[in-house]
Amino acid sequence: MKAVRLYAAGDLRVEDIAPPPALGAGEVRIMVSAAGICGSDLHNFRTGAWISRSPSVAGHEFAGVIAALGEGVAGFAVGDAVVADSRVTCGVCAACRGGRSNVCEKLGFVGEVCDGGFAEEVVLPASLIVKAPAEVDAAVLAMAEPLAVALHAVKRLAVPKGSPVLIAGCGPIGGLAALLLSERHDGPVLVADRNADRAARVAEVTGARIVDLTAEAVGDALVDQPLLAVLDATGHPGVIGTLLDIVSPSGMLALVGIGHGSLAVDPVRLVEREIALVGCHAFINELPEAVALMPALEKRLLALVDETIDLDGVPAAYERLLAGRSTGLKTIIRPVTLLGSP
Ligand SMILES: [Zn+2]
Ligand SMILES: [Zn+2]
Repeated sequence: MKAVRLYAAGDLRVEDIAPPPALGAGEVRIMVSAAGICGSDLHNFRTGAWISRSPSVAGHEFAGVIAALGEGVAGFAVGDAVVADSRVTCGVCAACRGGRSNVCEKLGFVGEVCDGGFAEEVVLPASLIVKAPAEVDAAVLAMAEPLAVALHAVKRLAVPKGSPVLIAGCGPIGGLAALLLSERHDGPVLVADRNADRAARVAEVTGARIVDLTAEAVGDALVDQPLLAVLDATGHPGVIGTLLDIVSPSGMLALVGIGHGSLAVDPVRLVEREIALVGCHAFINELPEAVALMPALEKRLLALVDETIDLDGVPAAYERLLAGRSTGLKTIIRPVTLLGSP
């Protein structure tokens, strides 16, 4: 079968490989219908930071159809539409036992610690799949995992009722957070991104207002309201520094972006203004909730798709995305081109 494997930093290959071996107990074989390219896939390709085995079929955001069930798998049937949970957790550390599996001591991700979804087929333990509504476009279902990440971040952010919220970065997580907030929050949603096309797309789909990332521009948009909730989805230390200046006293800055470089911050700025700085990592139990939102969000999620490609197009898509050349949020891979599909 065809698959996209990461060998080392900068070394991504489209190859013909043997299909996954026979199923073990508790495993399922999935024909991948659609997969999304994530910022963390690009980060791993650029830096090799999370390479724990080589080569590894990349991809942790995907949806598919069950092709076969291993022994003892209950609750699923061949032909079921499913989405994959990206997290591989140990289940026994203090975090896992305490219901915080997203910060498991041994947390790993599908595509890194085991083969992922940038392939025609993948085998996963049944514990890592969630049943999905078959009538929803697979490209949309492939966005369930990042939607769960955005849901977790939005929950951590806990925007006060009626209060404005600012999201920096209109990539997948920032854009999906804007979509969720436009649905469930009753205050103004502001978004900022240096890529004007991407910001425009997010604003159009979510109704969020675009602002420049300066204290003056954000102040004008807020009129007289304090800005108590800010989400950084860029991971860029320079942007985070600016956001710490923009957030109002007693406000919260939640960080969900994965970037690089270190942050120079005067702790007195946080103390005197009582700023809460909160990290948001992956998700805990939000994936089924994200899947349940899919039918209602389908049209708007489709409007956020950047390009649809096949497996051969993945290396070029990585280059394009790393160069910042995207107008949409999510590049979708269709491993098997079915007749009549877009
Ligand atoms: Zn992801
Ligand atoms: Zn654990």
